[in-house]
Amino acid sequence: MNNKPVKTASKDISWSAKQSADLYGVDRWGNDYFGLNDQGLVTAKTLHNQVPLMDIVQGMTERDLQMPVLLRIENILDAQIYRLNTAFADAIKKLDYKAPYRGVYPIKVNQQAQVVEEIAAFGARFKHGLEVGSKPEMIAALSTLTEPGSLIICNGYKDQEFVELGLQATKLGFRCFFVIETPSELPIIIERSKQLNIEPLIGVRVKMTSKISGHWNSTSGDRSVFGLSTSQLTQLVDRLKEADMLHCLQLLHCHLGSQIPNIREIRGGVVEACRYYADLCGEGAALTHIDFGGGLAVDYTGACSNDSQSRNYTLEEYCEDIVDTLKSTLDEYDLVHPTIVTESGRATVAYSSILIFNVLDVTKFEPIELPQVGKDEHPLLRDMREVLTYLKPQKVQECYNDAHFYRDEIRELFKRGQVNLRTRSAAENLFLEVLQQINKTLESMARIPVDLEGLKESLADIYYGNFSLFQSLPDIWAIDQLFPIMPIHRLDEEPKRNAIIADITCDCDGKIDRFIGQHGVSNTLPLHEVKEDEEYYLGVFLVGAYQETLGDLHNLFGDTNVVSVRINDDDSFDFVKEIHGDTIADVLSYVEYDPKLMYVAYRNTAERAVKEGRITARERQEILNTFYASMQGYTYYERDD
Ligand SMILES: *Cc1c(COP(=O)(O)O)cnc(C)c1O
Repeated sequence: MNNKPVKTASKDISWSAKQSADLYGVDRWGNDYFGLNDQGLVTAKTLHNQVPLMDIVQGMTERDLQMPVLLRIENILDAQIYRLNTAFADAIKKLDYKAPYRGVYPIKVNQQAQVVEEIAAFGARFKHGLEVGSKPEMIAALSTLTEPGSLIICNGYKDQEFVELGLQATKLGFRCFFVIETPSELPIIIERSKQLNIEPLIGVRVKMTSKISGHWNSTSGDRSVFGLSTSQLTQLVDRLKEADMLHCLQLLHCHLGSQIPNIREIRGGVVEACRYYADLCGEGAALTHIDFGGGLAVDYTGACSNDSQSRNYTLEEYCEDIVDTLKSTLDEYDLVHPTIVTESGRATVAYSSILIFNVLDVTKFEPIELPQVGKDEHPLLRDMREVLTYLKPQKVQECYNDAHFYRDEIRELFKRGQVNLRTRSAAENLFLEVLQQINKTLESMARIPVDLEGLKESLADIYYGNFSLFQSLPDIWAIDQLFPIMPIHRLDEEPKRNAIIADITCDCDGKIDRFIGQHGVSNTLPLHEVKEDEEYYLGVFLVGAYQETLGDLHNLFGDTNVVSVRINDDDSFDFVKEIHGDTIADVLSYVEYDPKLMYVAYRNTAERAVKEGRITARERQEILNTFYASMQGYTYYERDD
């Protein structure tokens, strides 16, 4: 069950890998983690070397890890944690801020054990902690973090059990903050901590009113479902005072949103947070930490703009803006500088995962075969053919209208039984030829008639990819997220086809028809002609955040294979971890089938067939073997040798 072999491409001297790099924007969105080499291969880059993704794919093939595969590059995750922590440390040093930075990773952004474990391991030297929003995430955090002193920030609704877990962890040396999101949580925390005789670390989440743009802006504002209003906040302070616990209130939490594209809005949010901070200190709270939540954006499009899928700032600017605003605002009040906490999830994990899949098939909207001119051909065919003789820029609209007219006439005649299938097929082929020629003519024209604006897209090829959008890229379907998508090889050849991508679910929504173009969003993606005897691989990049567990089992396509790779200093790489994706039996059991009973049922059917003399007992065994092997197999399309 191996994939098709990949040969080295024949050299195309009119095109270079550099042109591909520009076309697909690798340097714009790659954050220095991806590049193209002279052989036209996408590489994963570390500080000192780079490895072609195709070498890793080769290794997968040899290990019988079938496509699609989610590839994780450990070095990239490691580097992102390093960059985040050092960027804050540098800003703190440069601006003479008097307290440290402590990052926490929000588990919800990618809960996979491998990812959280890697973050805990790579982050230990920075005391990078975890943010949790539920009991399962809390349990995951407690069993993964090893560095006492690391922060655990508990957001979300907390019941007695949740609070108890946190209090006990405090006893073990973790700095576990309960962030109060609703007034009803406080009595539970007070009661449990008195009962267990453990002093809690308390934080409070305030509702921010600063205006934030982008997809997730509803996490701020008056109607936000999270955080306390100012009157709830003053009530909380009074309650804590009454319980003689105001000194436990040590953290102010203000999550502005996710994927905040505009640095000015972040600055505005920090100023607002500082006002809360200063006044809470004035009320007698012993605040020592200020937590700005998530929001550090990923520049998916590489446009470096304040568009919702981009960001108009660098990591360094983000850190400096926060530190600078914090320092200058709090210094006015003569307050001791608090420890800065952020909960960057997306920016931490997005870069390290790539979805790789092969292309199974291509549909083209071109004539399969042009009909020969025949003396007894239908007059409408002749008319359609003639359109090509008067096609020129001034007449594109007329030609377009005529071609449609003749084609529709033929379809009508077919319905009435007056032309046969062969004639209709000839007309459809000719029609596509005319449209293709019109499309070519449009390329040379400065102004395209309104009617014909969508022609290029309507003639685009459909490349069928071996993946499920709903399982692996749910945000494309749910919120029109853009991810960089490109071939990972053959980039020294010019991609001459225009395509959209369809997945292998039987759902018309299972397609990708919005791509990151050189100048904004494009409805088609340039791709190479797929070769008969060679596998064609595409990569979807920056998919490490929010995609994996939001995915669903549409058509019962399950989890993909996952491979974690570490790149070594000598250019070699190790397959550190691999997880085989769901088998068919796995996904069936998720929807409450019992694979054992299913086998028994099928065996009974087969046995009956033996009894009735329709198959032999030996045939029965073959049929059952196929059934059984299938149950243990991958849910995606598997190539035979
Ligand atoms: C989702 C979330 C985050 C993560 O935000 P990113 O933009 O992915 O960094 C952080 N904190 C809270 C409270 C969240 O809900």
